[in-house]
Parts: sequence; C-alpha cells; structure tokens
Amino acid sequence: MELNELKEKIKQFNFERDCYKFHNPKDLFIALVSEIGELAECYRWLNDVELSKIHADPIKKKKIEEEIADIMIYLITLSYKTDIDIFKAIEEKIEKNRKKYPIEKAKGIHSNSLEGFKGKE
Ligand SMILES: [Mg+2]
Repeated sequence: MELNELKEKIKQFNFERDCYKFHNPKDLFIALVSEIGELAECYRWLNDVELSKIHADPIKKKKIEEEIADIMIYLITLSYKTDIDIFKAIEEKIEKNRKKYPIEKAKGIHSNSLEGFKGKE
C-alpha cells in the first residue's frame, strides 16, 4: 500500500467516526505519546534475550505490532492535521541527516545528545 493511500485510509476512518472534533495538535500529540508508552510497557525491564523471545512469540509480537501501528496512525494524523506532509518531511530529514552524518565520519558509531556528534577523527 502506498503511504498516501494509507494516509487517506486513516482520514476516512476518522471522518466516518467524526473523530475530527477531538483531533487538535495537543491532544493528538498526547495520544501519540500514550501509544509510545504502551509500546514501552511491552519492553520495560526485559533484557535482550527476553526481548528476542517476545519477538519470536506470534501473540506477543502481534501486540507490539499493534502498538507500532497505533503510533504511526497518530503520527500520520498529527501531521495531516497540522498541514505537514510527513512523507516529504521524512525525505528531507534523511537528506539533512546524510549531510550531518557523512558515512566516513558516522559509520558504526552513535551519538549522545549530551555529548553531541563527534564522528570519527
Ligand atoms: Mg495502543
């Protein structure tokens, strides 16, 4: 399914249920963060081995899949309600990140917001 087709499907779902009256940016953002919290609950306190088992269990993995879907639905809804083309914004952000983190400086390393990106010497 095309991403824009997915956006139209979400819009149609919301329109049919008259959800728009609740969909202001602040409440959509709170809904988004709530769904991220639901996903975090699935992962909370689990080590890497336990997480691997969760992902190998079809029922538990389905729960994670649903939380990720909820997050994406609210993210797409928030973006179209604020007149942001999320797909264009993602493309532009990837391009910006390509310049900010060139492969020769960023490959295989990570950065921390407290320490900033240092890159390879
Ligand atoms: Mg949920």
